[in-house]
Amino acid sequence: MLNKTSSFDQLSFNFGVTQENKTYVVGIKMKDNESEWLQGNECIVCDLNFSKSGKPHHCRVCGNSVCKNCSYKMVNDKRSCDLCFKRIQLVDQEKLKKQQIKSKKESIKELKNQIQKQQEKNDQMKNQLIELQKQFERQEREHAQQEKPLEDQFDQKINMIRQQIENNNRLDENIKGERIQLEEIEREIIDLHNNIQKKGFDIKFANERKKEFHENLQKHEKHLKDLQQSLEQKQQEYTEIENRRTAQKQIISEENEKNEKNEKKSSDLNKEQKHKENCIIY
Ligand SMILES: [Zn+2]
Ligand SMILES: [Zn+2]
Repeated sequence: MLNKTSSFDQLSFNFGVTQENKTYVVGIKMKDNESEWLQGNECIVCDLNFSKSGKPHHCRVCGNSVCKNCSYKMVNDKRSCDLCFKRIQLVDQEKLKKQQIKSKKESIKELKNQIQKQQEKNDQMKNQLIELQKQFERQEREHAQQEKPLEDQFDQKINMIRQQIENNNRLDENIKGERIQLEEIEREIIDLHNNIQKKGFDIKFANERKKEFHENLQKHEKHLKDLQQSLEQKQQEYTEIENRRTAQKQIISEENEKNEKNEKKSSDLNKEQKHKENCIIY
């Protein structure tokens, strides 16, 4: 609807009729025919009297007489007075505003639609959030229910571990005590070992002495045996002598009995003789 031109822009600006660099193309019937023109003596815009300043121009929109300065604007590429141009411009601006309003209304409608959609989305999200909240609360309840036994188990384990630590400490103490006892026992064993070694020496010495005693004992036994043998021999000799004496006594007794009657007088001699015999025996 709007076309840009370059030929009148600067002029339009300079004369202050409009600041927009525009020339309008509008669907109106232009007054191209001279028979449609109105013959006025003064400019329809600035009241300039043509009798003083030459020939008038004619606006192709309204057909009125207009001076050169008040008809630089173009409508449908034809001369237009500033009034017509202004009017068309106002109508155009009105249309523009209406269009803008329309498009704004459309965009407002679009925005409303978007808002509506967004609202629906928000409602959906809200519902989802509520559902999530419910799920979360449900899970939290379940979690709390599950957590209680876990906490109990945890406490039990902690107690067990504490007990074990106490037991370990006690065991450590016991082991320490036992180690001390063991060290004492080790010392005792060393002492015993030393004693045993000493006793070994003593036993060796005692064995040697025993051997010595044994040898002496054997010697003594042999000596005793010899003595017994000689005693037996002597006893045998004694027995023989006793037997001989008994036999001699017998003989003597018989002789005495024989001679008793015959040799009473020589009894003293007999006695002397007997004495002599006894002396021989002993
Ligand atoms: Zn004029
Ligand atoms: Zn006009």
